[in-house]
Amino acid sequence: MLALALLGLLLVPAAALARAGGGQSSNPGFSGGGSSGGGSSGGSIGGFAGGALAGSAVSGGGGSFSSVVVIIILIVAFLIVRGYLRKSGVLSGPQTGTPTPAPGPATFDQLKADDPNFSEQAFYGRVNEMFLTIQEAWEARNLEPARRFLSEAQFQVLAQGVDEYVKNGQINKLDSLHVDRMEPVSVTREGDSDYVRVLITASVIDYTVDERTGEIVNPSVLGDGKTVKTFQEYWTLVRKVGAQSKSDATIKKCPNCGAPVTDGNYVKCAYCGTMMNDPALDWVLLRIEQP
Ligand SMILES: [Zn+2]
Repeated sequence: MLALALLGLLLVPAAALARAGGGQSSNPGFSGGGSSGGGSSGGSIGGFAGGALAGSAVSGGGGSFSSVVVIIILIVAFLIVRGYLRKSGVLSGPQTGTPTPAPGPATFDQLKADDPNFSEQAFYGRVNEMFLTIQEAWEARNLEPARRFLSEAQFQVLAQGVDEYVKNGQINKLDSLHVDRMEPVSVTREGDSDYVRVLITASVIDYTVDERTGEIVNPSVLGDGKTVKTFQEYWTLVRKVGAQSKSDATIKKCPNCGAPVTDGNYVKCAYCGTMMNDPALDWVLLRIEQP
C-alpha cells in the first residue's frame, strides 16, 4: 500500500512536469508505454524528468523565481520517490530474472543506421502480423502458413504442440486474441546477426473443444470459453546484419522476389526458389519464451 501511495505521489509531479516541459504524452506508464515505448520503465520515467528540465531551461528567460523553486522542489521529490520505488522493486521493470540473450539497450539506432528504411512502427506491425498468423495456424492445426517467418527450431516446438491436439482429437481455441502491449526488452548485435527481444502482453479466451462434438473439454482447467485471460511472451527475432527493410514486405509474400505464396509451400518460394525463412532476407521469429 505504501508503494501505491508513493506511486500516486510520483505520478502527480511527473505529469505536472511533463506539461511544464511540453510535448510529453498524457499517458505516463511504468511499463514503458506500450508499442511506442522507447525503452525500459526506468528510461521512460527518466524521460519525464529530462523533458521537464529541458522545458524549464528553454522557458527560463522570462519565468518567475517562485515557479522555478516549485519545479526544483517537485524534481527533488520525484527523484526521492523514484529512488524509493527502484529500491523496493516497483520499478524493476520486465528485465528482472529473464533468460538469454543478455539485455542490451532497447534502442534501434544501430539498426536504423545500417537500414535507413527500418521503422519501429513497421517492425511492431510485423510482430503483430506474426502473432495473429500463428494463432490462426494453431487453431487450424496447420502451421505451414506460419513457416515463412519461423525458425526451424521454433516451428518444430509449435508443430509438436499441434500434433498433440490432433492426436487427442481436440482443438485449442483462442477467441478474441489481441496484443495489448509490446515492449522492446533488448536490441543486440551478436556476430553477423541483430536480435530484438520483445515482451508481448496479450489477452485471449483460451479453451479446448472436442473436434467431433464441439464440446468444451475440462472447462475448469482448460478454460470455460468465456473468461478472458492476460498472458505474456518473450519473442526473440533475428535478422542478419545487412538485410534491408522493404516498405511493401509482408509475411504473405516471398522476402526475396515478392511473389505471393500460391502453392501452399511456405518455406521454399515457388517462383525464385529461395528459402523464405532466411534471416539474411527478413526478420525470423527465433524463439518464443514464457516469462
Ligand atoms: Zn521468391
